[in-house]
Amino acid sequence: MKCPACFNELCQMTVGQLTVDVCRGGCGGIWFDAFELPRVDEPQESAGEWLLNIELDPSLQINYTRKRSCPKCADIKLKRHYFSAKRRVEVDLCPGCGGYWLDAGELERIRDEMGDTARQKEVQAVNQTRVSASVLRYIYQMKAAARDASA
Ligand SMILES: [Zn+2]
Ligand SMILES: [Zn+2]
Repeated sequence: MKCPACFNELCQMTVGQLTVDVCRGGCGGIWFDAFELPRVDEPQESAGEWLLNIELDPSLQINYTRKRSCPKCADIKLKRHYFSAKRRVEVDLCPGCGGYWLDAGELERIRDEMGDTARQKEVQAVNQTRVSASVLRYIYQMKAAARDASA
């Protein structure tokens, strides 16, 4: 698959049960298939720091205003979509396959947003140095909520 942002070849990475396609050495974005996140079940399972530290090319110029095509669906354009009701983080969602694209840094912002939520709901502090399975579950729940809202 080609990166929707910079057309670099995406490379598949697996952590635990989760497989994502990342733009390593390109723009550093991450592609999530629609069915990838529900497989992350174990709260203690970490998806790893690597999701936040994908090697990227700092000299790369990305045009963020250009319409992007879904890397999986031949002729469907991705839609910019607020990730949660907090309307802080926008991601690129495919209306065709339900997959979505996070630009470099967006996962971190989602994690921060989740950290805020967790601080309201839980006494336990969120581990700020890595992306845990609970962050990914949060992403999935937000996505499910967004889908329900638009249905
Ligand atoms: Zn890229
Ligand atoms: Zn698609």
